[in-house]
Amino acid sequence: MELNKRQEQILQIVKDYGPITGESIAEKLNLTRATLRPDLAILTMAGYLEARPRVGYFYTGKTGKQLFADKMKKMKVEDYQSIPVVINENVSVYDAIVTMFLEDVGTLFVVDDESLLAGVLSRKDLLRASLGKQELTAIPVNIIMTRMPNIAVCYKDDPLIDVAEQLIEKQIDAMPVVRKTEKGYEVIGRITKTNITKAFVSLAKED
Ligand code: ADP
Repeated sequence: MELNKRQEQILQIVKDYGPITGESIAEKLNLTRATLRPDLAILTMAGYLEARPRVGYFYTGKTGKQLFADKMKKMKVEDYQSIPVVINENVSVYDAIVTMFLEDVGTLFVVDDESLLAGVLSRKDLLRASLGKQELTAIPVNIIMTRMPNIAVCYKDDPLIDVAEQLIEKQIDAMPVVRKTEKGYEVIGRITKTNITKAFVSLAKED
């Protein structure tokens, strides 16, 4: 976040004299408290200042970089997830390929007859299966998918940055967002590298 001149002045005053009330900051700048209110609100919301009732404003000591990292860690999966594209494990490889094109996704999640997560299919899984001479309409996806319990999953409350780290570490493009039940995992969303890219851009545009 770029600070304006007045906001920089306020920060300097709080650094030098904090804890200090809004009233006293206004006096030092020869302005009214009302004029300063929006700037104080911005500095507090952005994390540069902290306001304590009846005491005044403190300088948090955090740099722009630290505040950026704080913001990133606060981003949650549920705020950036997409709708998952799910197929049954008995569907043929041929139909899975058609679904991938029609739904315009790179990863399909595979569920069993109870709608619980059973596996994952990536583009290359399907390409690999297509290289052989098998009849694609006759092979069910559960023969070729990556299956449970080897699926990396995430939850809606997880920090997005943790999911991003796992995508890199495990060299995968997507993770299902799941809800844990007694029987297994229900698939409620998906996080892909695209969601992470969008989150990254939204951080820069936030002001
Ligand atoms: P691609 O294979 O098209 O490059 P990925 O990198 O996502 O796409 O997939 C690599 C392999 O990892 C595939 O075999 C895929 O089934 C598997 N895979 C994809 N997502 C997951 C996941 N969330 N958990 C475990 N394995 C996964």
